Amino acid sequence: MRLVLLGPPGVGKGTQAVRLSKRLGVPHISTGDMFREALAKKTALGLSAKEYMDSGKLVPNETTIGLVRDRLENPDCSRGFILDGFPRDVAQAEALKKILKSLGVSLDAAVYIDAGPDIVVKRITGRRVCEGCGATYHMTFNPPPEDGKCPKCGGRIYQRVDDREDTVRERLKVYKALTEPVVDYYEGVGILRTVNGEEDANEVLAAIISMI
Ligand code: ADP
Ligand code: ADP
Ligand code: ZN
Repeated sequence: MRLVLLGPPGVGKGTQAVRLSKRLGVPHISTGDMFREALAKKTALGLSAKEYMDSGKLVPNETTIGLVRDRLENPDCSRGFILDGFPRDVAQAEALKKILKSLGVSLDAAVYIDAGPDIVVKRITGRRVCEGCGATYHMTFNPPPEDGKCPKCGGRIYQRVDDREDTVRERLKVYKALTEPVVDYYEGVGILRTVNGEEDANEVLAAIISMI
C-alpha cells in the first residue's frame, strides 16, 4: 500500500502513520522526523534545515525532494510506504509522481485528515516528543510521565521549538497557502480520501482503514 497523509500541522498525521505502518507492515516516512534526526546529529542537512523549521517555513524543495527520492529508492519501500509531511506543495506532489513513475509504481490513496483550527492549535501546543525514539505525547490527551522520561526508551521528553504559539501561526499560514492546494491536486487525480480528524485517534484510524 502506497499512501500519503495530508492535513494541517498537528492534526494527527504522525499518530496515524505510526499505527498504519504497524498495521500494513510498510515503513513510515516523515520528512519532519528526518530533518529533526539530521539536526540532532548536526549533519549538514540538519543544520541547513534548522532556520526554516524554527521559523515555520518550508525547507527548500531541492533539499527535500532529493531526500525523499533517496528514501523511496530504498528496498524497504518496495512493498509500500506511508508518507507523512510530504508532499507539502504542488511542486513536491509533481516530483513525487515522477519519482514513483521511475520506480514503476503509483500512489494508492492520499488520505486527508481534516480538523478545524481550534482543535489543531490545541493539539500542536500540547504536543510533547521523545528525543530518543520520537514517540509523541500530549499534555491533555496522552500525558507523559511526571519525571519527563519516555516510558518506551527512557529518552527526554521535550516541546518542539516550532510548537510554541508564535511559530504555530506561521506554520498554519504556510499550510493554507502552499499545502492546501495539494488536497485539490489529489482530488483532481481522483485518489483523495477525506476523514474527520476531530474524533479520537482510534476512530480516525478505523475511518482510514475502512477507506483504503
Ligand atoms: P507537522 O507536525 O507540523 O506536520 P513536520 O514535523 O512535518 O510538522 O515538519 C516540521 C518542519 O519541517 C516544517 O515546518 C518544515 O520546516 C520542515 N518540513 C517537513 N516536511 C517538509 C517538506 N515536505 N517540505 C519542506 N519542509 C518540510
Ligand atoms: P501531525 O503529525 O499531524 O503534526 P501528531 O500526530 O504529532 O500530528 O499529533 C499532534 C498532537 O495531537 C500530539 O500531541 C498527539 O498526541 C495528539 N493527537 C493526535 N491525534 C489525536 C486525536 N485524534 N485526538 C487527540 N489528540 C491527538
Ligand atoms: Zn522514547
